[in-house]
Amino acid sequence: MSARHDTADLILTGGTVLTMDTARPQAEAVAVTGGEITFVGAAADVAGLRGPGTEVVDLKGAALLPGFVEAHGHPSVMALTIAPPALDVRPFVARDGAAVLASIREAVRRAPHAPLAAYGVDPLLQPDLPRLTRELLDTLHPGGPLLVLSNSGHAVWANTAALRTAGIDRSTPDPPGSWYVRDAAGDPTGEAHESLAVERLMRAVMSDRLEPGPLAEAVRWAFDQHARAGITTASDMSCAPDLVPVLRDATGSADAALRVRTWLIGTPELAATAHESPFTDKPSAALYATVGAKLWADGTPWQASIATSFPYLDTEAARRTGADPCGGHGAMNYTPDQLAELVGRFTAAGVPVATHVHGDVTFEAVLDAYARAARPHPDRLRALRPRMEHCGAVTGDQYARAAELGATVSLFMDHVRWWGDVLADDLYGPEVAGRWMSARTAWDHGHRVSLHNDGVCTPTQPLSSVATAVTRRSTSGRVHGADQALTVEEALRAVTVNAAWQLHMEDHIGMLRPGLRADLAVLNQDPRNVPAARLREDVHVTATYLSGRRTWSQD
Ligand SMILES: [Zn+2]
Repeated sequence: MSARHDTADLILTGGTVLTMDTARPQAEAVAVTGGEITFVGAAADVAGLRGPGTEVVDLKGAALLPGFVEAHGHPSVMALTIAPPALDVRPFVARDGAAVLASIREAVRRAPHAPLAAYGVDPLLQPDLPRLTRELLDTLHPGGPLLVLSNSGHAVWANTAALRTAGIDRSTPDPPGSWYVRDAAGDPTGEAHESLAVERLMRAVMSDRLEPGPLAEAVRWAFDQHARAGITTASDMSCAPDLVPVLRDATGSADAALRVRTWLIGTPELAATAHESPFTDKPSAALYATVGAKLWADGTPWQASIATSFPYLDTEAARRTGADPCGGHGAMNYTPDQLAELVGRFTAAGVPVATHVHGDVTFEAVLDAYARAARPHPDRLRALRPRMEHCGAVTGDQYARAAELGATVSLFMDHVRWWGDVLADDLYGPEVAGRWMSARTAWDHGHRVSLHNDGVCTPTQPLSSVATAVTRRSTSGRVHGADQALTVEEALRAVTVNAAWQLHMEDHIGMLRPGLRADLAVLNQDPRNVPAARLREDVHVTATYLSGRRTWSQD
């Protein structure tokens, strides 16, 4: 072997290495050659790998972890909805409804005839926001198409010009799994729900942003947001087929900041052709692959479109979600038969499914669908690691049944941070808020739990998910369900090795072990040494490496 191969390209030493590898949980130094980890061990032993061309990074007491893995992300949606020059009106940016309207008025003043899409309203966190009628939107933007999208991405409100641009009228059928709200005469009111209907309006009104140049720029911006948060791999958990080449091209550029795993929208058409579709059959470390099909079994608690065994509270806020004031609950997007049919077809074709599900009633129906799909070949379903996404109101018995089937769960942990108080005070009461995203229960039933931020629905920050999982604190500082807390070690596993496993990538990423890719996140200090209540403020990402190449640094 030549001397060139005996020395490393990159050595990181002088800090605490948290490997997530149970065989060697902690080390002092890591060496990298050709984008691959070649050494994990003691600082004294790494010295021998140092050559004239080796870059040595002194961690100065910082912590080195595997790059975070966003199990359920939406880089393509981030690119389309919040990348500059988009109008970002999410509650994390526009504090209240007045700020939302001011922001829209200002954009209209600057470009009175341009199409405009404002992303991210949330009437629960922006309670002073008026009801979004087509008339109000026509008044706000009389000279062009205007869309206002909900932060959950499950609803959109269009003005008259936007409906016209999208060619939606009384003769337009509802796309599968979604619908246009209609008045008594059958005319669309401008309000639409769920992915395909929302997407049709977005694409029509924002067609300029879909041009190759602006789109590539927006995707690059979205990738950079991930790198800043320490993320090296993200799923794109519902990519439209025509955006696949854009994502693939973006990961193919020499300075790409993110590895992407795409899940296509699991339409009946895709299911019918799943055998011949573009899914990558063998897990690899490639920067891009299309790997699965995404289904939506229900919607969002913020729009009363989830099916639960418990009622909404009789409150003004709950009524604003569309909840039945007599204590009813939302329904599912598919019938159990439709769901079972889709899951069965994808499973038979060897394509992993990931199903969006919040309500406990919905979760049971998804389990039934998975069980039916498993019947011919239980091991085949298990090997595909079928996923359940978000899991707001899941019970212990349901986690047990999911584990038995081989289904795996990814929790939307920062729901508790941003909406914990709303869940407790406005929607379901403190008991349900305390077991919302019941990570402890899931973990104790043997699940390899992952935590996610869901792209645009909360700021993409794995360290925020970790802090919330450990503290169960909302933005006001209230604690919702202390008994559901994870330890910091568990929470870190949930955003690294567990998420990598859910993406079938545990042989390539998610741990620091020789032979795996050198995907790294550097934190300013070891989170295990920080009091739980200080995690959010005191721990942050200082650098990110993808296959040994620095993709972001605070310096
Ligand atoms: Zn999502």
